[in-house]
Amino acid sequence: MFVRYGQDPHVFGMPTLDGGSVKVGLWPQDGELPDGDPDRLDRTVAPESLAPTNAAVARFLPDLIPTPVRISAYLDAYSRDDHGLVGRMPGRDNLVVLGGFSGHGFKLAPVIGELAAGLITGTEPAFDLTHLAPGRFR
Ligand SMILES: Cc1cc2nc3c(=O)[nH]c(=O)nc-3n(C[C@H](O)[C@H](O)[C@H](O)COP(=O)(O)OP(=O)(O)OC[C@H]3O[C@@H](n4cnc5c(N)ncnc54)[C@H](O)[C@@H]3O)c2cc1C
Repeated sequence: MFVRYGQDPHVFGMPTLDGGSVKVGLWPQDGELPDGDPDRLDRTVAPESLAPTNAAVARFLPDLIPTPVRISAYLDAYSRDDHGLVGRMPGRDNLVVLGGFSGHGFKLAPVIGELAAGLITGTEPAFDLTHLAPGRFR
């Protein structure tokens, strides 16, 4: 895995499981949902929007072919402080919220699943979840 962090461009990636290609992404990724409606996401990728990624690959990963073999558009939900929302909804004790993982939810999936199971069955979480409290933006 690799990341060129906090510089222009901020580029990250990792080899894929097929053994023949490498996932590469630039951050921040642009795009807002029309009317906030996920069903209206335009998943077509304009060829010109690939130019910064191709240039980053050519510059930093010179042994790779700099044009992609596969491209896709995905949704991801960012919170205002770039941390997830994990816990009970204030005033709605029967509602557990897990979301807004702000670009780093995949690697956290196992522990978030464990926390969710605990929250739902009434087990005290093993970690302090204050910084992830769903009510913190009120
Ligand atoms: C391009 C990209 C690269 C990423 N790279 C990384 C990375 O390297 N490392 C990392 O840790 N994280 C990464 N992430 C972030 C990670 O994938 C997300 O944070 C995580 O998947 C969010 O999990 P989630 O359960 O909140 O939402 P999602 O995984 O989006 O799950 C939401 C689910 O709800 C379903 N759904 C939506 N609306 C409805 C509805 N009305 N009814 C029923 N079902 C519905 C959706 O189909 C989806 O299956 C990346 C994300 C993207 C987009």
